[in-house]
Amino acid sequence: MPDTVYDVIIIGGGPAGLTAGLYTSRAKLKTLLLERMIMGGQVMTTTKVENYPGFPGGIDGPDLMMRFQEHCQEFGLEVTTGEAEGLVDNGDVKRLTVDGKELSARAVIITTGAEPSKLGVDGEDSFIGRGVSYCATCDGAFFRDVEVAIIGGGDTAAEEALFLTRFASKVYLIHRRDELRATKILQDRIEANDKIEVLWDTVIEKVNGDNTGMTSAALKNLKSGETRDLPLAGMFVAIGVTPKAHFLTKVLELDGDGYVLTDAECRTSMSGVFAAGDVRKKILKQIATAVGDGAVAAIMAEKYLDGFVE
Ligand SMILES: Cc1cc2nc3c(=O)[nH]c(=O)nc-3n(C[C@H](O)[C@H](O)[C@H](O)COP(=O)(O)OP(=O)(O)OC[C@H]3O[C@@H](n4cnc5c(N)ncnc54)[C@H](O)[C@@H]3O)c2cc1C
Repeated sequence: MPDTVYDVIIIGGGPAGLTAGLYTSRAKLKTLLLERMIMGGQVMTTTKVENYPGFPGGIDGPDLMMRFQEHCQEFGLEVTTGEAEGLVDNGDVKRLTVDGKELSARAVIITTGAEPSKLGVDGEDSFIGRGVSYCATCDGAFFRDVEVAIIGGGDTAAEEALFLTRFASKVYLIHRRDELRATKILQDRIEANDKIEVLWDTVIEKVNGDNTGMTSAALKNLKSGETRDLPLAGMFVAIGVTPKAHFLTKVLELDGDGYVLTDAECRTSMSGVFAAGDVRKKILKQIATAVGDGAVAAIMAEKYLDGFVE
């Protein structure tokens, strides 16, 4: 049996987890924040954040997350490294398996986030943040009056292609098949938009660039076998996102894509367990919404521990 029963254990040290930790530690709840890798979450992989309020001119992702951590330290948030592997409901106490050991808490906040799928081609990693992006909402505005590509064929790829036409001079929608999976209305809008050219049956084989960033992509047509180099200033990969909730299958209610289902107050299907940020099914996955969720989940955990909500 573990010695310590925390009031709250937060799983994940991204914007949602750090915000929840700020609120619970400031409220003097005995809190442990658990992070499997480096603190800061997905924001650590982005060079510039321009849409988080309070930072005119933008701020580097790692700098922003360092401020989140420093702010939590002011209130004595306890953090540790470890990966949550299981969660069991023992009524008033929840048991977490972390790297084979057991931790206990009266309430749990899940903020394990999500991970965009990569193409896995040469050069992709080298140019992340220097041309290669996984989020048009985040980075589209950096690509004004230049040619960019979006990779994918679903609703997200189609919506992001349309969004990118607000900034880019031309948007190539590159899809490995000969038809899009996106809804008909989006397909019609893609077809009607003069700035978008769809490259069917085409895959990216390599991302090329120099010290200024990405300069082109090596393409291959899967039907003809033809290869060519397409000059591009940016490339947005929209081939899927994986929520980091695999260890919660059969424990909490998840949707078909593996996102944790919650109500508007971040309550999950297990009493005393809350979910916040990108791991939760919701419409917009951004730092601002992760922060909002983290605050809501923390306040709900506090109310639960005080017996005000079930
Ligand atoms: C390249 C890129 C650029 C972006 N740019 C912007 C931007 O400019 N503006 C904006 O608003 N949003 C941006 N986003 C989106 C934003 O980063 C996310 O919406 C936000 O980080 C979500 O926060 P989160 O705390 O929910 O999850 P995450 O940031 O994903 O953090 C989750 C954390 O949980 C940890 N974790 C996962 N599983 C476990 C486990 N089992 N045990 C312990 N720890 C675990 C992970 O290691 C991670 O650190 C960007 C995303 C990417 C990928």
